[in-house]
Amino acid sequence: MSGSVAERLASVRERVAAACARAGRPVESVTLVAVSKLKPADLIREAYAAGQRDFGENYAQELRDKAAELEGLEGLRWHAIGALQTNKVKYVARAAGAFHALDRLEVARELSKRREGAPPLPVYVEVNVGGEATKSGLAPDALGVFLDEVRALPGLQAVGLMALPPPTEEEARARADFQALRELARVHGLPGLSMGTTHDFEWAIEEGATVVRVGTAIFGERALKSP
Ligand SMILES: *Cc1c(COP(=O)(O)O)cnc(C)c1O
Repeated sequence: MSGSVAERLASVRERVAAACARAGRPVESVTLVAVSKLKPADLIREAYAAGQRDFGENYAQELRDKAAELEGLEGLRWHAIGALQTNKVKYVARAAGAFHALDRLEVARELSKRREGAPPLPVYVEVNVGGEATKSGLAPDALGVFLDEVRALPGLQAVGLMALPPPTEEEARARADFQALRELARVHGLPGLSMGTTHDFEWAIEEGATVVRVGTAIFGERALKSP
């Protein structure tokens, strides 16, 4: 992949707009989250200078550190998109404008506690629509009970569902997963659908995504995260 961050971002934005047009949706109906995990703050500044405001981070401490370093960038919104351990909830509660990977009640309770006095944190409940190949996310039939619990907690606002289905070249398979998530969101009265990555964000938009999380196509390949 070549080009500057600004050029790649422009190309992703064009593809988002084209997918919206194909689906007959206004381009404002999709939020592009630029996933900057494992990428240096300088690249985030480049994307910000090119007009990008929503950024996604997976790791709580990395989010905490980058949020501190980039505090001066007005209007920048952080999306925490990775699984969270209870002892790191505090970093997300402080820095994030949204959390996309809620699949444990323990984490929900801790987030709720830590958001006391702050505006409610929009949360997306992660669902396992990919079956066995995906380890994270709730089983679809556990969603009802889980949502009842989350909706009863102060400090959180359940706004949507999120999924990270295993990447596949099979378009029909990918679309089926996105459709399954859309149907679950409809059944449970949730307007938000956080789905689609570099691999499949156009299909996701055509299937109703309101948020796409795109890293590689904007910032380039990542080094593997060491455990
Ligand atoms: C890394 C990551 C992304 C972005 O993936 P790319 O393939 O780089 O676009 C999106 N969502 C989640 C949850 C991720 O962990």
